[in-house]
Amino acid sequence: MADSKVVPFLDVKATYLELQRSIDDAYRRVMDSGYYILGPEVEKFETEFANSCGATSCLGISNGLDALHLILKAYGIGPGDEVIVPSNTFIATWLAVSFCGATVVPVEPDIETYNIDPKLIEKAITSKTRAIIPVHLYGLVADMDPILKIAKAHNLIVIEDSAQAHLAMYKGRIAGNLGHAAGFSFYPGKNLGAFGDAGCVTTSDIKLSKRIAQLRNYGSDVKYHHLVQGTNARLDELQAAFLRAKLELLPSWTEKRRNIASTYMRAIDGHAAIKAPKIEDRASHVWHLFVVRVRDRKKFQAHMTSHGVSTLVHYPIAPHLQEAYEGGPWKQGSFPISEMIHHQVVSLPLGPHMTESQIAQVVQACKAYNGEKI
Ligand SMILES: *Cc1c(COP(=O)(O)O)cnc(C)c1O
Repeated sequence: MADSKVVPFLDVKATYLELQRSIDDAYRRVMDSGYYILGPEVEKFETEFANSCGATSCLGISNGLDALHLILKAYGIGPGDEVIVPSNTFIATWLAVSFCGATVVPVEPDIETYNIDPKLIEKAITSKTRAIIPVHLYGLVADMDPILKIAKAHNLIVIEDSAQAHLAMYKGRIAGNLGHAAGFSFYPGKNLGAFGDAGCVTTSDIKLSKRIAQLRNYGSDVKYHHLVQGTNARLDELQAAFLRAKLELLPSWTEKRRNIASTYMRAIDGHAAIKAPKIEDRASHVWHLFVVRVRDRKKFQAHMTSHGVSTLVHYPIAPHLQEAYEGGPWKQGSFPISEMIHHQVVSLPLGPHMTESQIAQVVQACKAYNGEKI
């Protein structure tokens, strides 16, 4: 395969090339307007994005981490409070809690879905528990019904980490409208990505939405009148204008992701050495990442590289084993399912701008893999 081209993991520039005209228009519109932070483009994007996930309200925020952080802050969660998080997630979910001064209480995932296992949540609840943050990891919505039921019984707030799950569905409802509030990221590599950092909060809790609107803007509704000690976590006009252009194409991009995922699923169905991700309903997954498990990750990645296919690992080290959480109550072996996942997962290239021949190259490389049984 030495003469064939390498399949990149993700081509983010392709979204610009496809939308060049409307992106360039958006740029000129904002430059001409004279508004650069929290203006008409942000307002319009907020309305359009809230509609896309069926929430009453959307607030543009500087990034996904700030979105989660501000939701916790707005609910008054802080020192002495406990928040249940998945042991298996990108570290931002944990950092949002830690940054508020609250304590993370990790719960293990289901090995099939990689998402928090609702059966294990109740055991982690104490008198200090205030909230649960299910993460819709890799684009698959967490099993929300049992989570919401437990939360209701214990009077807990449910905050969706929807950073990887734009337009993902759960029993006919859309991510971002399944709990009390949700945080989204529009980091460039996400399914809906800006050309810089951006994020948002969606909620149907109007009181919460008002509080977050203050918190993101120095704690003020009216300029130079500060009601609370807020921060600066605003979204700028340029990114909002770019996101509006991209949001129009998101449903068709999501459909392309689903079609590629179906092709991969068929290709590795029954493969002894590659474990495919699990889905129950086509609409539930938006395939932010297509993640397989293998016994010998080094060998698999080397094999894929030799077939001209780029792969990445999401993520190589579980949050509880990161240096950032050294000194915490955990050690190697504290979360064995999560640790095994972090040891075995590999992400295959998947994006709406892949060509047929790139997809075929990934399929062939997978089929040609001859590793230990998983
Ligand atoms: C990307 C991501 C975040 C953070 O988003 P940023 O915009 O990078 O701050 C939070 N949670 C998860 C699961 C993510 O993938």
